[in-house]
Amino acid sequence: MMKGTGASPGIALGKVLVIQNEELVVEKKYIESTENEKNRFSDAVEKSKRELSNIRDKAMNEFGPEKAAIFDAHILVLEDPELISKTIDKIEAEKLNAEYSFKEIINQFVSIFESMDNDYMRERAADIRDVSDRVLRNLLGIKVIDLSVLDEEVILVSNDLTPSETATMDKEKVLGFLTNIGGRTSHTAIMARSLEIPAVVGLKTVTQTLKDGDFVVFNGELGEVLINPSVEEIDYYKNLKAKYEEEKKELESLKGQISITIDERKVELAGNIGTPKDVEGLQKNDAEGVGLYRTEFIYMDRDSLPTEEEQFNAYKEVLESINPKPAVIRTLDIGGDKELSYLKFDEEMNPFLGYRAIRLCLDRQDIFKTQLRALLRASIYGNLKIMFPMISSLEELLEAKKVLEKVKKDLTKEGIDFSSDIEVGMMIEVPSAAIASDILAKHVDFFSIGTNDLIQYTTAVDRMNEKIHHLYNPFNPAVLRLIKMVIDNGHKEGIWVGMCGEMAGDKRMIPILLGLGLDEFSMSPISVLPARKLIKSLKYEDMKQFAKEVMNMSSAKEIEELIEKTLL
Ligand code: PEP
Ligand code: MG
Repeated sequence: MMKGTGASPGIALGKVLVIQNEELVVEKKYIESTENEKNRFSDAVEKSKRELSNIRDKAMNEFGPEKAAIFDAHILVLEDPELISKTIDKIEAEKLNAEYSFKEIINQFVSIFESMDNDYMRERAADIRDVSDRVLRNLLGIKVIDLSVLDEEVILVSNDLTPSETATMDKEKVLGFLTNIGGRTSHTAIMARSLEIPAVVGLKTVTQTLKDGDFVVFNGELGEVLINPSVEEIDYYKNLKAKYEEEKKELESLKGQISITIDERKVELAGNIGTPKDVEGLQKNDAEGVGLYRTEFIYMDRDSLPTEEEQFNAYKEVLESINPKPAVIRTLDIGGDKELSYLKFDEEMNPFLGYRAIRLCLDRQDIFKTQLRALLRASIYGNLKIMFPMISSLEELLEAKKVLEKVKKDLTKEGIDFSSDIEVGMMIEVPSAAIASDILAKHVDFFSIGTNDLIQYTTAVDRMNEKIHHLYNPFNPAVLRLIKMVIDNGHKEGIWVGMCGEMAGDKRMIPILLGLGLDEFSMSPISVLPARKLIKSLKYEDMKQFAKEVMNMSSAKEIEELIEKTLL
């Protein structure tokens, strides 16, 4: 059995598909028959074109013309007569193998495009690399796995999954994810929960341990993975799966109900989303609004910045589909573990402490203003609340608000309509913001505590680092004290305080957070109904007492044990 971190609940049983993202090794070889080599090359190009055209059609059906256009551009690369004829000439003239000849020509093309003084052309270099990788894999006989066109149901095994892999994969055929790296708050984990696909992350060596076709069963809550299990074990897990699905059905009866304790303390249970499409899952799970829309996904998985119009459409879609319930839309939070291929940042020693989120937006106000314009324009379609990420000082907050006011002025001047009562809030995910929350609370309409980052910054534990994952502990008294401080300071100024970090959906933490007075809990949609069930079984007055007891404890271990003993 392998043990990792349970990242998305559910039981999965099935055959695995291992995705190896290793570097391609191309050797230089002299060949006898240039004819044969040229044919190998043409076959690989044709095969690649066929594959791309299939993916293109699929992208068109599932995601529309914008995604399909990416693959059209890839096909065009393979139709470039110069690229093809230069490779053929090299094979012929130098009697070199097809892989090597093609790679050499590709390198020439890429360096020409990369040195051009034009963003669009430089981005084409990335397309050429992508396409050449496919042709080389076909030449080398290395399986090209397209997650968007899977032939059968599989459990995906990989080092990690990129946002583009999760965005394009054939979700109907993916039964689960198993990855080497990551923790509960890594993006693969968050994505798995939003897709409602069971997942275990942080398995360290799962790509080496498993091979294609191995049969596994795993529990996405406990993080346990059984390889080639016995008949009895399979039966056991099948039963567990049936039980899990039964429980899920029972939760259905809680739909349409409010989230209220026995003694009538009402809280909001909202959902976290990454794309407008995720609102569907959120409605299905009866979330009471969008508590966090991570807009960075609009910026990812493409080769240029999204236009104001594209963003406007995405925000409008979210606001309209959730209306009249509120949607908290967070401004761009890029940097850290989320990169954009087309925005080259300087290499940093500590990206999580670096040029990211609001810091980048205040520096690149062109990007920030475009997003704010799109948000304001969309505001008339629903109940918008704007939220700034990574605020670490009052100056930063005031500067961000100033830019927002400037954009509002511009729109008014242009005669463009926007809502007049948009709440403006900020995330509390940096310890300095938590400590100064009494000051900051005077300048916002709400706080949302981002525990994913708050834990990592408070305890100096990188949320992505497997080696020190045991130190990334939500029960750490220092973290809990900061949370209490933020809630108390927010309430003193009369603003509501929510939480959109993963802790908000953790059934071990909900009773304490409730007792501390948290007003809104925003979580993966899949956790909403279980959280409602839990809240309806609790008494607010008891939880206040319980939270007090917890606050007097001195170690994470003691707190965790008390919770296990008292509540679970
Ligand atoms: C957080 O830091 O808790 C959060 C919700 O933001 P993200 O996970 O996107 O960093
Ligand atoms: Mg964060």
